[in-house]
Amino acid sequence: MGERIGVFGGTFDPIHVGHLVAAVNARAALGLDRVILMVANVPWQKAGTRVVTGAEERFALVQAAVGDVPGLEAGRLELDRGGESYSADTLAELHGLHPDAELFLVVGWDVAFDLPSWERIEHVKELATLVLVNRPGAGRPRGLDGDGWRVVEVSVPNLEISSTDLRSRAAEGRPLDYLIPESAVHFITSHGLYAVGR
Ligand code: ATP
Ligand code: MG
Repeated sequence: MGERIGVFGGTFDPIHVGHLVAAVNARAALGLDRVILMVANVPWQKAGTRVVTGAEERFALVQAAVGDVPGLEAGRLELDRGGESYSADTLAELHGLHPDAELFLVVGWDVAFDLPSWERIEHVKELATLVLVNRPGAGRPRGLDGDGWRVVEVSVPNLEISSTDLRSRAAEGRPLDYLIPESAVHFITSHGLYAVGR
């Protein structure tokens, strides 16, 4: 039997405990061998709307945050591929690398609403089972079943945390502690990330 691999894509600018709690709960609920927190190289949805922290720095933050938590890992396929990051390409690449694996694409409720705008979405549907995790501030998406997806839902603790809020906190000198794992906070402070106005 092949591996069951979860792919949790994001900009992770920066990673926070909302991401990590969702990832470990999806892994446990679905019996996934591992969940890859897949760092977007150029997040095409966000490019041009705000300055995005360098991909290598965001990847280092995810690595620091994941530490040695069993079954969680930081993924750099999209960095190594370069250019804009599309889940269709990432899932195709993972399928090529692990032909026997079953792939699960984990998305929060807010992202689920954007799926129709994704590049080559039909290909994504063929390659992965969609895993919906609840996120405060977004409604529960409906009708995806009828749209040809294989969908499962995983209930995770509601944590009202976003990278957008964390970037404001950092810029204003408010604490990031306990919203981001300590190792990643250390990386942020030692590299002077998000420190606008401090
Ligand atoms: P930003 O505010 O910059 O958009 P974000 O907090 O939404 O950042 P992303 O990197 O955009 O983080 O999200 C990556 C994935 O994590 C998405 O599928 C998103 O729905 C999910 N996610 C982010 N925060 C949470 C949370 N608090 N609870 C559950 N899922 C979350
Ligand atoms: Mg987001």
